[in-house]
Amino acid sequence: MRGFFARANAALGRWMYGRYGADELSKFLTWTSMALLLLSCVRVLWWMYFLALALIIWSTVRTFSRNIPRRQRERAAYLRMTAKPRAAWALQRNKHRDRRTHCYFKCKQCRAVLRVPKHKGTIDVTCPRCHCVTVKKT
Ligand SMILES: [Zn+2]
Repeated sequence: MRGFFARANAALGRWMYGRYGADELSKFLTWTSMALLLLSCVRVLWWMYFLALALIIWSTVRTFSRNIPRRQRERAAYLRMTAKPRAAWALQRNKHRDRRTHCYFKCKQCRAVLRVPKHKGTIDVTCPRCHCVTVKKT
């Protein structure tokens, strides 16, 4: 049985050679199509089934495509378009992760997000971007 899985894995590796594979955009398309499939269970939203089908086909075509430069351009455009929401999500995730040890606040001059350790009393915080000094109670 172990030999079977090793051979199947090697065969899949040979078949995927020269193909693009999965990236952030194809993962997004797949998850969106799953959400649309769930929504299509609602009677008035039946038509979302076809949208989900189109997205899953698009994702599959991208994954097995051999036109790698075009897929890379699509990925770059997707990453450019989603840069702000992804950064906002990462900030929220980091704030939650550091909620016991660090404070987050925005610089009054340049609006950069600054992170300082908690329980250090009143400290002077120098913004690394604009070098503005702020007094902060942590
Ligand atoms: Zn600043």
